[in-house]
Amino acid sequence: MGSAPVIMKFGGTSVGDAAAIDRLVRHVSAARQREALVVVVSALSKVTDRLLQLASFAAAGDEGAIQAGAGELLDRHTEVARQITPDAGKLTAELTSELGELRNLLHAVATLKDASPRTRDAIAAFGELLSSRIVAAACQASGLPAVSLDARRVLVTNETFGSALPLMEETAASVDRTIRPILAESRIPIVGGFVGATISGVTTTLGRGGSDYSAAIFGAALDAREIQIWTDVDGMMTADPRVVRATHVVPRLSFDEASELAYFGAKVLHPSTILPAVSKSIPVRILNSHRFEGDGTLITAESPLNAPLAALACKRHVTVVDITSTRMLMAHGFLRRVFEVFERYRTPIDVVSTSEVSISVTVDDDSRLRELADELSTFAEVRVEPDMAILCAVGDGLRRDPQLASRILGSLGQFPLRMVSQAASRRNVTVVLQDTVAAAAMVHLHEIFFPHAADVPEDVERVAL
Ligand code: ADP
Ligand code: ASP
Ligand code: MG
Repeated sequence: MGSAPVIMKFGGTSVGDAAAIDRLVRHVSAARQREALVVVVSALSKVTDRLLQLASFAAAGDEGAIQAGAGELLDRHTEVARQITPDAGKLTAELTSELGELRNLLHAVATLKDASPRTRDAIAAFGELLSSRIVAAACQASGLPAVSLDARRVLVTNETFGSALPLMEETAASVDRTIRPILAESRIPIVGGFVGATISGVTTTLGRGGSDYSAAIFGAALDAREIQIWTDVDGMMTADPRVVRATHVVPRLSFDEASELAYFGAKVLHPSTILPAVSKSIPVRILNSHRFEGDGTLITAESPLNAPLAALACKRHVTVVDITSTRMLMAHGFLRRVFEVFERYRTPIDVVSTSEVSISVTVDDDSRLRELADELSTFAEVRVEPDMAILCAVGDGLRRDPQLASRILGSLGQFPLRMVSQAASRRNVTVVLQDTVAAAAMVHLHEIFFPHAADVPEDVERVAL
């Protein structure tokens, strides 16, 4: 057994019920024959949504809703516990005790009628704390030497509640104290994703979908051989499978391509996942937990040579903000002032395009848009247009073929484009259009640029960029 472990991360639907957990155990058993493993799990499917909803009910003082919700969560988790292990007594007692703590926390929030981001993190973290115990018990019931680890003892983060960032040095040190000794005994650590704690031990989360990121952080800390993201689709698909029916798996992606796709809406990968992998050059592989065959998508530093475009991605329901300088030409310092306002309201910008007197940007998070627009209005004219979508074609091939970008834009002639952008990386062509036509535009682009699903070679030629 080699010393570099493989990280296996299983998402919500891959631990959603007893049947899914049974498949997980079979994957882990098979992989264990070959190498050392660290298993990272999400909460059972939909549990994080439910926990955050309960936090909101609690903040509104709705005791009835929180009692009913906590009861449902207990029923669901204990039911799965009974199905995955013949001797569920100890596990059920642990789950009941954890959920008792959740009830107390929700009750306190209901009394105060206030759920700060810090409290919401403490509530959201219960999903992964419960699922990691259940999965460890399921592995043990199948004879695997699994050990459940509390993620708050492993992942050290800063104090940005709701979207905490890892402190890599501190995390590497705690990984040495917690995960490595378990691996040294040839056992399998099972740890929840998404959840961490500050240096002083306050619970944090990495933000929605953050279990992929946890897996990559642990992978980097352990110099893993590979970081595997096990999910409910066959890999990174050529387009969002919820929008386009005829998608197929992209067998190979570069780190840069995968980052762009994740950033622009390919939900299968959390956008920050690639960062820790790049830092240690660790391959990332996306695999379908429902299958026992298939190579999924392999993501490495190299770029597939013979694939012009890697895939399409789409971010729906974004808002375009047009900001026009009230002077005739953009005064010196105008852009800086504009970006400072977005910074102050902690509202990230995705796409930018500028003209002589105006700048257009897209934002995903519109929660502070009203205040933000008011402030911009003190020195510019502001127009806000909701219900737009970003459509993005990604591929390292765009750097090699100068005609490709114009072919993409040309093929979108029938769709009114609100913004067009190609960043310096020249790895993507991004357009912004009405959300109502985004799906049709994606289907159309997919038909043109990915016409022969079955013809895509499995073993593409590779080149380092
Ligand atoms: P998990 O719970 O395993 O983390 P997610 O729901 O976060 O799974 O991500 C998987 C989903 O991402 C898929 O079911 C699919 O609907 C969506 N998705 C969006 N774009 C893509 C894409 N290009 N390739 C694969 N899946 C995608
Ligand atoms: N359970 C968390 C979420 O639903 C993290 C994850 O699944 O990646 O956002
Ligand atoms: Mg996910």
